[in-house]
Amino acid sequence: MTLRKHFDVLIVGGGPAGMAAGASAGESGLHVGIVDDNLRLGGQIWRSDNTDVVSPVADWINRLKSLPIEVLPETGVFQLLGPQTLLAEGRNKIFELSYKKLILATGARERFLPFPGWTIPKVMGAGGLQAMVKSGLPIAGERVVIAGTGPLLFAVASYLHKHGALISLLCEQASLSSLVRFASWLVRQPGKLGQALSLRKDLAGAHLAFNSWVVEAHGEKSLEAVTVSRNGKLQTMACDYLACGFHLVPNVELALLLGCALRNGYIEVDDLQQTSVPDVFCAGEPTGIGGLDASLLEGQIAGYAASGHSEKASQFLRQRDKQRKFAAALDHTYQLRPELKELVKTDTIVCRCEDVTYGRLRQENSWREAKLYARCGMGPCQGRVCGPATKFLFHWNPESVRPPLSPVRVDSFWAKFNNPAAELSAASGEK
Ligand SMILES: Cc1cc2nc3c(=O)[nH]c(=O)nc-3n(C[C@H](O)[C@H](O)[C@H](O)COP(=O)(O)OP(=O)(O)OC[C@H]3O[C@@H](n4cnc5c(N)ncnc54)[C@H](O)[C@@H]3O)c2cc1C
Repeated sequence: MTLRKHFDVLIVGGGPAGMAAGASAGESGLHVGIVDDNLRLGGQIWRSDNTDVVSPVADWINRLKSLPIEVLPETGVFQLLGPQTLLAEGRNKIFELSYKKLILATGARERFLPFPGWTIPKVMGAGGLQAMVKSGLPIAGERVVIAGTGPLLFAVASYLHKHGALISLLCEQASLSSLVRFASWLVRQPGKLGQALSLRKDLAGAHLAFNSWVVEAHGEKSLEAVTVSRNGKLQTMACDYLACGFHLVPNVELALLLGCALRNGYIEVDDLQQTSVPDVFCAGEPTGIGGLDASLLEGQIAGYAASGHSEKASQFLRQRDKQRKFAAALDHTYQLRPELKELVKTDTIVCRCEDVTYGRLRQENSWREAKLYARCGMGPCQGRVCGPATKFLFHWNPESVRPPLSPVRVDSFWAKFNNPAAELSAASGEK
């Protein structure tokens, strides 16, 4: 069944940025919609905690509930239909969502890098393991090695530790000197310094290693041990889970499909979060990996600006600019070291969906060739995992996007072609 809905302001993504955008745009009394592919609002950080009545997320949920905002959960936008109209797939429905203003708040995902053994069961994304524990996976007493780069590793380690996991080792590939420089920068942001110190306190007793990274995961049917390079020396240790993540990559695919320009890998926006495409705004992690505060500030600016209240938006600009500097410092501190390119062996799988090895990919010269001749990036994840990995390994540019943005049912896919009304409006330029 196809349902048509029209919004004054449509927001794609119901994480912190999308919720803040909705609460701000909704104040004006306009018809605002938030569409998110998860069961509950909250995004990566809040979606499993948003039933708690006293959490910060509850304040945002209550603000949203007090406004005439329509939320479409479990609905993913996967395609453009015509001018200012998107196609989205819900559980049993297809939605044609048209808008006057669009705010993209599609967040970010973890970056994974291939190494021998990374496809063994119980080698997981750090955020992925955290999400599974939040959904009920028992972790108490399990030995966990955490490896990669970025502040998410500490947040995950602290969470797992609180739930009874034994954190055998946390390997951060960044050097101690760059982290010390980052810490001295954090002194200017007391809130963030406090968060960092509290995470460090939570992990008192856990082994932390800098200049260190995973080299190989071992195991027959499931993970048994992991070898890490720890300050230049190899060390193998038994463990039950390996949680990996190499900072985050922005979800820019929908913005690219709409024609939004990129700058340094992020969606380019002006002061009021307006992209290069008229009437399309972007907020949160697609414009820079800056954390929760940045997403909330950008969401509010985008929400007010899209609903015609630029003066209200401007009250957040100074704070937002400070957060942008924080995002730049994060990128600088956690940039990937070249040694990580040496981890892959000829038979290491790089594209997990299509089982394409590093050796096979070395025969190709570009992302396009790798897709055409080796099927790299052609599976269900549509290059979301191997795209950033091949960008790092080969300097390929995986930024050509094709719909559907995610795997959809056949009837949803067909809706694009079986839609005379949409074709008519597309041809005439009407909304
Ligand atoms: C796996 C993971 C775990 C994290 N855990 C923590 C943590 O424990 N602590 C912490 O401080 N920070 C954590 N972060 C970082 C945190 O998510 C950010 O700092 C910030 O909260 C991002 O907010 P956002 O609204 O920009 O994006 P997100 O929270 O990512 O929200 C974006 C939302 O948009 C949805 N979406 C994307 N594309 C579509 C589409 N086409 N159609 C419909 N919906 C769509 C996504 O499913 C998601 O719900 C985590 C990040 C990741 C990737």
